[in-house]
Amino acid sequence: MSESAPSPAADAAAAAADRGAVGRASIEPAPLMGAAGPRWAGGCLAPDDPPPVIHRNPGATSPILLTCDHAGHRVPRTLPLGVGEQDLCRHIGYDIGALAVAERLADLLGAELIAQRYSRLVIDCNRPPHAPDAMPPRVDGTDIPGNSAPTPADAAARVAEIFMPYHAAIAASLDARAARGEATIYVAVHSFTPHHGDYPAARPWPITFLFNREPALSHALAHLLQADGINAGLNVPYEVDDEGDYGIPVHAERRGLVSTLVEIRQDTIADQAGINAAAQRLADTLSQALASFPPSPPDPAS
Ligand SMILES: [Zn+2]
Repeated sequence: MSESAPSPAADAAAAAADRGAVGRASIEPAPLMGAAGPRWAGGCLAPDDPPPVIHRNPGATSPILLTCDHAGHRVPRTLPLGVGEQDLCRHIGYDIGALAVAERLADLLGAELIAQRYSRLVIDCNRPPHAPDAMPPRVDGTDIPGNSAPTPADAAARVAEIFMPYHAAIAASLDARAARGEATIYVAVHSFTPHHGDYPAARPWPITFLFNREPALSHALAHLLQADGINAGLNVPYEVDDEGDYGIPVHAERRGLVSTLVEIRQDTIADQAGINAAAQRLADTLSQALASFPPSPPDPAS
């Protein structure tokens, strides 16, 4: 995603940092630190680290497939990322509240959810793995020492053991649906901060829908919510593109699926009541939109 709000040029760097973009050249080399012990010789994940994929309601019959790329803030036990728990629990570490909403939404819709439990600071699962901010050395003013100069082997292990299994799980689900002749509606769930950087005002949208080549579902959802008096946004505070995103371009657009990337403002889902309300509103709105929205047919080539 790329920042789309009409911010002054001077805010560009801060805006980029908000979504994890980085200035690698500005980072002084720093020693790796924060290791919990000797590195696991097998790669990124130790035998007692949990798998990256959280799979809820596999085999559910709803045409909607939910994903949550930034669901967790876990760090592999022996990875010397050098980031404290306080920073991992901020937006730089994961999408606060997104997994809770996605899980609730999956249960309300009877839909399958595939989510990823490791921090975006370990490997960002909504970036092409070669992107400069896939393993950011600095985010939103915070240095990530373990990302200042990862060895090729370290970087490859993060891709192979976290990024690839997550996206393979999504691809396998989509392949299976297509093989059964079922259409899929691809809905990626994310969250964004209510304030950012030097931006003078709070972001006014409680929920937004992002798209690139497939605008129809995003427009339908936003218009339904706007008709209910909710200030739903379109392609704010980010936009979807091929360089800054992975799930929508690769899984949804290449297969011609109806899709949207949902962004929910984090202060609206800061407690269980807010999570429940957001999930219920999204479930109702998705159901309403899809009732008059023919799902795209499965791509026989995929
Ligand atoms: Zn996100």
